[in-house]
Amino acid sequence: VVNDEEHDGRIEMTIVGGFLGAGKSTWLQHQLHVGHFGKVHVLVNEAAEVPVDHLFLEKAETLTILPDGCCCCEGAPQLIRSLRNICESHDNSTALELPRLLLETSGLADPAKIVENIQNDPLLGRRVRVKDTILIVDAGNLKHQLLSMDLVVRQIQSATILVISKVDTESADVVDRAANTLRLFNPSATLVLSDHGTERPADIAVDSSVFEVPSNLLPSDLPRAVSIELNESISWGALSVWLSAFLFAHRDKILRVKGVVSSPAGKLVIQSVRHKINAPQILPYNHSSGCALVIIGQDLDDAKLQESLRYWLN
Ligand SMILES: [Zn+2]
Repeated sequence: VVNDEEHDGRIEMTIVGGFLGAGKSTWLQHQLHVGHFGKVHVLVNEAAEVPVDHLFLEKAETLTILPDGCCCCEGAPQLIRSLRNICESHDNSTALELPRLLLETSGLADPAKIVENIQNDPLLGRRVRVKDTILIVDAGNLKHQLLSMDLVVRQIQSATILVISKVDTESADVVDRAANTLRLFNPSATLVLSDHGTERPADIAVDSSVFEVPSNLLPSDLPRAVSIELNESISWGALSVWLSAFLFAHRDKILRVKGVVSSPAGKLVIQSVRHKINAPQILPYNHSSGCALVIIGQDLDDAKLQESLRYWLN
């Protein structure tokens, strides 16, 4: 039996963010047009930001406008109510297929807060799974936004997918710098380039050309990856207890935990986003390379981490 998070019966939700003018609507309309999200229920926070045209309405199965303030803060109750209504109407319908949800946030929302609000809601925590947090970033404006707003850094660090928009209107150098700067803040997110909403993978060499980083950020604020080799067979039970305690103690400092470990049941793929550990998935194929746990976060002490994990597992 594959413990598959993809089919755990919860409704999949994607959160899309990005500042006004970042090309969020263009990107979203294109994705809906090509059917990337399938039949999806779109929730839009702050209607005024979005030209709701025919195309948009046509491709979204249903559309909910959330006009009562930013849905990470003052508008949170409205979002929770809407999501509960969607769950309820699914329960009352004969449709077997789960609805899919896509939330377009206002530019000033902190996606991590939205995820937390959903996970902490007694009903929605069991019904809705936030699959991806996508941030649309305008390469040309990133430089100034980074220097003027802490929020940008939080948004970048919450994302699982970072889309650099308008790459056709920027020089290759600006796009490269934007990509490297985003990688600096969030090395674990998937990086994508977008030209009028059409995506292509960002195959940009990792180098040191980055935008100026805000002077109030200390080097320890920048996340790093610590990799711990785990070639022996381990118990998932024991590892998950250690991970929970570790994530609880370092709540806001950890961006991601991922890796492949050996267990008596087979090779397990482990992933967490922020302080939530997903149920491990058993690798369906033979994974021959070494096993390791990779922790990406701020202020990590390699030696202490290794020691603590080894002590716990032995
Ligand atoms: Zn807010």
